Amino acid sequence: MRPITDTTSSSSATGGRSARETSLWHSQAHMPSVKRAERVIVRGRGAYVWDADGNELFDAPASLWYCNVGHGREEIADAVSRQLVQLESYHSFQQFTSAPALELSERLVDLAPMPGAKVFLTSGGSDAIDTAAKLARRYWDAAGRPEKQGFVTRESGYHGLHGVGTSIGGLAVNREGFGRLLSDTAQIPVNDAHALEALLAVEADTIAAFFCEPVIGAGGVIPPAPGFLESAREICRRHDVLFVSDEVITGFGRTGHMFASDRFGLAPDIVTFAKGVTSGYQPLGGLFVSERISAPFWDDDSDLIFRHGLTYSGHAAACAAAMANLDILEREDLVPRVRELEGVLVEKLAELERHPGVREVRAGVGLLAAIQLEDERRVNEVADRCYRSGILTRALPGGALQVSPPFITTEDELERIAAVVADALDAADGCA
Ligand code: PLP
Repeated sequence: MRPITDTTSSSSATGGRSARETSLWHSQAHMPSVKRAERVIVRGRGAYVWDADGNELFDAPASLWYCNVGHGREEIADAVSRQLVQLESYHSFQQFTSAPALELSERLVDLAPMPGAKVFLTSGGSDAIDTAAKLARRYWDAAGRPEKQGFVTRESGYHGLHGVGTSIGGLAVNREGFGRLLSDTAQIPVNDAHALEALLAVEADTIAAFFCEPVIGAGGVIPPAPGFLESAREICRRHDVLFVSDEVITGFGRTGHMFASDRFGLAPDIVTFAKGVTSGYQPLGGLFVSERISAPFWDDDSDLIFRHGLTYSGHAAACAAAMANLDILEREDLVPRVRELEGVLVEKLAELERHPGVREVRAGVGLLAAIQLEDERRVNEVADRCYRSGILTRALPGGALQVSPPFITTEDELERIAAVVADALDAADGCA
């Protein structure tokens, strides 16, 4: 077995890459390229991580959009450890549950962006999406409208990679070669409320829900056009189509509000969340379900059962991590801090728009931004140069660099991201 710190034949230029072939099948990876070129991250503290070669890297994407409170928080580790010793977990099927799952749910409903919410816990974001889709269909079936089964999403939207998420996602490449997926799905152009209106005007009778990331994330960080989300919400309400706000990235503060649904006044029927609920210290996701959707299942005289669940739904150690994470968010005022840093991020990255290698910078909603390169084929090379200069960033589809740092980041660090990207572009052939 190869120890994780084995850096045989790696060099600081490649940042912890190993020459030995890995056995780990990486997600969304071209394995022939990756199998001898892994980047092994071994340590984290605050907004920084270190690779196996000891290179210090500013974590501009906060890992995969999740490390909101920063790395190395011992208080979260301690909370997890205490819970594991007390009781590793207990499932939440039928009448059973664990104290942390209960305690977290009580705390979450007070944060939910709609009144009277119920909480269904999962193990991650894709679980939450599949759960939301099943719940939407089950709701309409119980309401005597079983033909309402379809799902609408936005082009470039990303909703995870389980069965439903793969079927409804707006990145066509993620559907290729998987055969028949859910067929009753439709997509509208990214910020086109007219297209949603036109679609629902004709097909609302067969559509269960519109799934919408308030800010498209993995599809390239695309903020909503002014008024789009509010219009889409109103259109769904008028046509009786459920509005599912996918807040797996935007939830728990990333937009400068606890939820983007608060920022844009969406009052969704369902909200999906994951990542920021624990800042990634444990895998956890879930849904907020509005009173309208939960009532048929919760009313005293109801015999309906939502026959769905996951062994690790609301794992006790994950719930303990979530509570410690929420303590930090609140105690350190990190959500208001994101609001303050939003303008700084816009200002610092705006300078990059003058660079000939940059087509546009997409920012303006919290600590979420993308630097769209003019030549999208260069994005990996530019990301590589940034890495060698101590800034870890990530290539997004379409040739953009992801910037979504931990909430504890400083103004100087945001300035440094812009400077390092500019230098990397200058150094990349033909960009200067
Ligand atoms: N929804 C959105 C908006 C996401 O960004 C993601 C993951 O990045 C998911 C769903 C899926 O979450 P997970 O990867 O935890 O399954």
